[in-house]
Amino acid sequence: MKRIVILGAAESGAGAAVLAKVKGFDVFVSDMSKIKDNYKALLDSHNIVWEEGKHTEELILNADEVIKSPGIPENAPMILKIKEKNIPIISEIEFAGRYTNAKMICITGSNGKTTTTSLIYHILKQAGYNVGLAGNIGRSLALQVAEENFDYYVIELSSFQLDNMYDFKADIAVLMNITPDHLDRYDFKMQNYVDSKMRIIRNQTEQDAFVFWNDDPIVTEELKKYDIKARLCPFSEFKEKGAIGYVSDKVFTVESPTPFNMEQEELALRGKHNLYNSLAAGITADLAGVSKEQIRKGLSDFAGVEHRLEKAGRVRGVDFVNDSKATNVNACWYALESMTQPTVLILGGKDKGNDYSEIFDLVKEKCIGLVFLGVDNSKLHAAFDNFGIPIADVKSMKDCVDECYKMAKPGSCVLLSPCCASFDLFKNMEDRGEQFKECVKNL
Ligand code: ADP
Repeated sequence: MKRIVILGAAESGAGAAVLAKVKGFDVFVSDMSKIKDNYKALLDSHNIVWEEGKHTEELILNADEVIKSPGIPENAPMILKIKEKNIPIISEIEFAGRYTNAKMICITGSNGKTTTTSLIYHILKQAGYNVGLAGNIGRSLALQVAEENFDYYVIELSSFQLDNMYDFKADIAVLMNITPDHLDRYDFKMQNYVDSKMRIIRNQTEQDAFVFWNDDPIVTEELKKYDIKARLCPFSEFKEKGAIGYVSDKVFTVESPTPFNMEQEELALRGKHNLYNSLAAGITADLAGVSKEQIRKGLSDFAGVEHRLEKAGRVRGVDFVNDSKATNVNACWYALESMTQPTVLILGGKDKGNDYSEIFDLVKEKCIGLVFLGVDNSKLHAAFDNFGIPIADVKSMKDCVDECYKMAKPGSCVLLSPCCASFDLFKNMEDRGEQFKECVKNL
């Protein structure tokens, strides 16, 4: 019997283990950290052997194939040993793809993946498609392949997932953008990260489609290097650029395969970045055969995704917006760009080597106050102290929201879009966003 070893037992690993077991493999799961109780229960319910807090070499290096969690770096000691033995290492998505004939709609990019994935899923689901949501959101693809029988999957793919995909093919591949991120996992070489993102078009044929943002200089430069067989579906802010999706005179337009348009005003999601996300979703739904009426409906009644420019309330004329997911400078740029009111901006957290100059102009134009929420705010002070804008330092969300409220005036907006990861003061970005909303409620 073929032996499959799964490294990492969170959502993707536990799901892959169940699928492997259902398909009759000899399965072993190993996790260096503690496995969460719900995943232990899932593994136990399928009689899958697992270990936690260690990797036992003898039980791993006898594998025919290893499925690696996207969280484990390529240079982790156990991964190096597996490579030395020439045991193939694949991702959970690659594995799950072998056992389904469902149409795969895959979304990647540095920013906008979750929003676009959720929006596409919303449109398809509402249009009555038998569709699953997978990848970085919701349940793992592998578990759904084991337990469900969907005709379509909408899958959010990070660069780490793409790295260990080889034969997998997206029927519709969507590439939102490429800006620097996660470089610590790519030998600090941008090209390595770019190559990883471009794997989204791997194995595509004439029958497939590739939806991409045509205004992204990195993407357009990369495309010259590839002999792409898939149908090209570029989207752009501007009509001139040969795009099939664009906005012209405030009309949101998709030219093909089935032409449709709607007033830009009717789109549920606001901001320039969300215009790109809506264009990508509109084209993709069109390619999947959704009627134009249903696409218009889906694009206009989507409720948005938590922690992404989410309205967190209005208190005595001051609006509060939770964009806790903005963990890099580019994401914050788009959030600020979409602000139409004078803004008190909350920045800070764990800096990933940020260059704040990208948001200097927008901060000067839109911000009436800055609140730095972090253990070490020195880099933020160095960047913004000479702007002449009131600045406050805080170390808890309660103090942060109180301080913002003091700085804000009726008609202005408080925006949490911190450019940084949250791990210095919070469990994760969700915890940061939840605490923000809770404090706003208590004002
Ligand atoms: P991802 O899943 O790629 O991290 P999200 O949809 O969760 O993307 O959005 C993360 C943050 O990035 C949001 O807070 C938002 O401000 C910003 N953002 C969303 N879509 C885009 C886009 N198309 N381009 C640039 N920034 C975006």
